[in-house]
Amino acid sequence: MRDFHYKRAKSMEDATRSISGDPTAKMLAGGTTLIDLMKLYVERPDFIVDINPLGKISSDLVAIAPLAHGGLRIGSLVRNSDLAWNDLVKRDYPVLSEALLAGASGQIRNMATVGGNLLQRTRCEYFRDTSMGCNKREPGSGCSALDGFNRMHAILGTSEKCIAANPSDMSVALVALDAQVRVRSSAGAERTIPLVDFHLLPGEHPERESVLHHDELITAVDLPAIPFARRSHYIKVRDRSSYAFALASAAVALDLRDGMIHDARVAMGGVGTKPWRSHVAEKALIGLRASDDAWRAAAEAALHGAKPHRYNKFKIELAKRTLVKTLSEVAAM
Ligand code: SF4
Repeated sequence: MRDFHYKRAKSMEDATRSISGDPTAKMLAGGTTLIDLMKLYVERPDFIVDINPLGKISSDLVAIAPLAHGGLRIGSLVRNSDLAWNDLVKRDYPVLSEALLAGASGQIRNMATVGGNLLQRTRCEYFRDTSMGCNKREPGSGCSALDGFNRMHAILGTSEKCIAANPSDMSVALVALDAQVRVRSSAGAERTIPLVDFHLLPGEHPERESVLHHDELITAVDLPAIPFARRSHYIKVRDRSSYAFALASAAVALDLRDGMIHDARVAMGGVGTKPWRSHVAEKALIGLRASDDAWRAAAEAALHGAKPHRYNKFKIELAKRTLVKTLSEVAAM
């Protein structure tokens, strides 16, 4: 392990100002990604600012609370387990609870935070192996996955520089629910970013993964009131039933009235370089009668333009079937 300086943050200002002067500095929350990657020498921070003490100073950071005009505010230090088992989340946004419980293991969910989950890094094996070329880890060093074993990699939103899949289940549900990410800078400025715009496509710069600035702290995630989100569901297909990343997943909410699809939310995981909201699938559904034909039309729209590589061609049909199954199960609720 390399040496690094460690500091426990005394306030949000202290955390953001401490980190702003050191480009290698990292904030530590649950540590379930950061410590893992430090052990592999993929992350090599000289300075770590532990933000866990902030939960005792600002209770909003660890709270799950209804918003005045409907919806929910989730503090960024809320642990994934606490969010998954929260009564309001289970009742009003079951897709979020299910996505969280589909992720990682019980022990990891007890540590991992909402803010950290949004920023968790890809599980691409070549990214985690410092002997291999990886444009995300070391810009300009090439992408070993393009001609490597790319079975787990993305088929939507890829570029010639990177095809890594985003690993988060939680973010797939949140992006389907129109979540907004609240952040605060070292100057005290606050801004709100729609989650759908928070993660970046790899393009020419896969090393840039989100629009978050280095000196910004995620403070909360807001969910708008979506009454029909009570009829929502998450299905994750993976190699084993626990503690595995998605080959394909779908987060769906449907507003059904007299058998007609009045509104829909569709997002997919395991297939995109970012949590993949599919507006085209939603458009394909709205106005149709709930039926197998509607589900298949949405699935065809969602995967239109997918670009597989040598070992992940199977993901196209798998993702379509995952979405069809999720839509049909939500309709049957
Ligand atoms: Fe690196 Fe992305 Fe290529 Fe994986 S897919 S080796 S993360 S550049």
